[in-house]
Amino acid sequence: MIYLDNAATTPLSERAAKEQVLWACERFYNPSATYVQATKVAFALTEARGRLKKLLGVKDGEIIFTSGATEANNLAIRGSVREGKWEYVFSSAEHASVDNLAKALEREGREVKFVPIKKTGKVDLEKLEEVLNEKTRLVSCMFVNNVTGAVNDVAAIAKIIRKKAPKAIFHVDGVQAFCKLPFKLSNLDVDAFSLSAHKFHGPKGVGALYIKNKAGLKNQVYGGGQEFGIRSGTENVPGIMAMLTAAEELDVKGRLEKAELLKQAFLSELEGAGIELVKTNRSSPYIATFIFSGVNGETLVRMLENDVIVGRGSACSAKKSGNHVLEAMGYNLDQIKGAIRVSFDAALSEQEVRDAAKIVKQKYYELVEKLK
Ligand code: PMP
Repeated sequence: MIYLDNAATTPLSERAAKEQVLWACERFYNPSATYVQATKVAFALTEARGRLKKLLGVKDGEIIFTSGATEANNLAIRGSVREGKWEYVFSSAEHASVDNLAKALEREGREVKFVPIKKTGKVDLEKLEEVLNEKTRLVSCMFVNNVTGAVNDVAAIAKIIRKKAPKAIFHVDGVQAFCKLPFKLSNLDVDAFSLSAHKFHGPKGVGALYIKNKAGLKNQVYGGGQEFGIRSGTENVPGIMAMLTAAEELDVKGRLEKAELLKQAFLSELEGAGIELVKTNRSSPYIATFIFSGVNGETLVRMLENDVIVGRGSACSAKKSGNHVLEAMGYNLDQIKGAIRVSFDAALSEQEVRDAAKIVKQKYYELVEKLK
């Protein structure tokens, strides 16, 4: 079986698993307790914030550990909401954890604006500029799209925001970019950045929100005041330590080159097969979505599952019939029905990826024949 749904999740690395056991079984103390064993854990947690900031390429700001990116996104957005006539701006291709929250804010009577994306899969910068103003409180836009792999020009977006909306907080969902693309957060001028461990061989249920100015963020849960009072609840120390171990062992540049090779290999096997790649202007080599016209993508996923595991857009909203990202790019519902996402990991071999592509092609043809 060849696993090609790495944008949905990745297996935990062995070193990260060992680290998790160490902090769960031996160094299990509550970091908020006062005895020396616990204060050592608290110290390690403080160090962990520094380690993560180093990986992100930032010196200022703070790290708030969360249960993953869904929570980090919710915290960044909800925590920025203020009473008054503020406006909240979102791209139309956000992950469900941002998109559904944006719609909830709208239902609550807040002024919410959605910026369209272009056929290239990237946010329309001209349209973004048009909606920004002095009343903009927050702009949320993802770095790498989890369905298409489209890479937004975060620095260019920040520039527009600073010019047109000087009071806005710029939040970036960086889940599909962190540990995958080499970047220095300090060069991107963002105020808040979400990440999730299970996308880079860390454990599930742990992630973080980087925030430039933590004083501006309102807590969403009440409790013991952990994480600077912004995110109460005993920290998931084993998860956090395992997340850092997983991140630190990755050679981001080397893996990116490998992913590029793998994606090219996959695409070359499918050339001339009548399978359309959802093309984006600048794309992450880790992700590719294809339109298998005339068939139901779900049926194909199930036909493939014993040999090749592929996904359908976002695993979090895979059960929904439509796909708002492809819809926003102008694909019709029939095309969306036939969409399948393939996502790579550097641990795969080129041969595995070529074999997988051949199987995908063969099963697609079988399904087309069946439907004739
Ligand atoms: N944002 C993006 C872009 C994602 O791909 C995902 C994971 N599907 C999330 C947010 C949610 O992350 P988590 O699973 O940590 O809640």
